[in-house]
Amino acid sequence: PSEFPMALKPGDPGWDDLAGIKDGPRMNATFVTLARNSDVWEIAKSIRQVEDRFNRRYNYDWVFLNDQPFDDTFKKVTTSLVSGKTHYGLIPVEHWSFPEWIDRDKAEKVRQDMKEAKIIYGDSVSYRHMCRFESGFFFRQELMMNYDYYWRVEPSIELYCDIHYDPFRFMHENNKKYGFVISLYEYIETIPTLWDSVKKFMKNHPEHIAAGNAMGFLSEDGGETYNKCHFWSNFEIGSLNWLRSKAYIDYFESLDRDGGFFYERWGDAPVHSIAAALMLPKEEIHFFEDIAYYHVPFTHCPTDDKLRTALRCHCNPNENFDWKGYSCTTRWFDINNMEKPEGWEDQKK
Ligand code: GDP
Ligand code: MN
Repeated sequence: PSEFPMALKPGDPGWDDLAGIKDGPRMNATFVTLARNSDVWEIAKSIRQVEDRFNRRYNYDWVFLNDQPFDDTFKKVTTSLVSGKTHYGLIPVEHWSFPEWIDRDKAEKVRQDMKEAKIIYGDSVSYRHMCRFESGFFFRQELMMNYDYYWRVEPSIELYCDIHYDPFRFMHENNKKYGFVISLYEYIETIPTLWDSVKKFMKNHPEHIAAGNAMGFLSEDGGETYNKCHFWSNFEIGSLNWLRSKAYIDYFESLDRDGGFFYERWGDAPVHSIAAALMLPKEEIHFFEDIAYYHVPFTHCPTDDKLRTALRCHCNPNENFDWKGYSCTTRWFDINNMEKPEGWEDQKK
């Protein structure tokens, strides 16, 4: 059996006959992108990469979401590039505004302070709406209700290797609920009280905490403190039904009430990651070693030389972030007793 689940190697049946692979069962799945009209040329690049490396053989749909109506250029360009069907959704204003329990003067004061402290996006209102939307609402937009799995794609990303199998089907057949490629430490200034809020949720809802979860990824002291590790959510392949579950909705609503999306600058990355790590058995979270990815400023490039050749990768392995000091992926491997790929130690520096 292949050491890389479902990745084909030269000589395997289907390697030369890519059209044959897509004859397996199709998943009820979609790409999903939140974007502004002005992001059109940057999302065009991302789509081209996703299509070249994967979707031209699978033709999955693509849902675009925006807090403003998409313009004709955006729709025309993206529809011409996506090989599946495209759908365009306007986000309801309730999902992109201050909830009534938020004190706006207090929130504004925080933005001023964060601006002075030069915290990235610290003074931005729209960035906060974006993070709250990605945390609690994208998966229950009307257009998303038709699907079981999503793959999130942002503008200006790159995919560096061929994907010779269907990651959605992989998720389904292996009962995975959340997939990532890059993990790292969050800036503590953006989430000073997030863990307090999480602890409150855990206390109120012990029924949602999974046995055999990945608390070890988040905390070095059994949950007393947060080590700031999170999966980078600009890339995600995940289960929409899990995000729509009572457990996740209770979690989001509890956090949302505490106000940290506005009184701090909670990101959807730590919010999703903490949910996955606490409310799923750890086997249901998957690290996609074979999906090579870039979002400024980090790269995931497969460590193993043979895998890179087999998948016709064009990333520079020296830029692989996985084993560097600021990545949490070593920790992920360690808590799961996973064997690290050959050559990982040479990439530490
Ligand atoms: P970063 O990756 O954290 O630096 O944040 P980005 O600027 O890439 O934003 C994350 C995602 O949200 C991207 O897909 C953006 O296109 C999208 N986004 C950010 N702000 C807005 C906004 O105000 N409106 C809309 N519609 N999309 C946004
Ligand atoms: Mn981005």
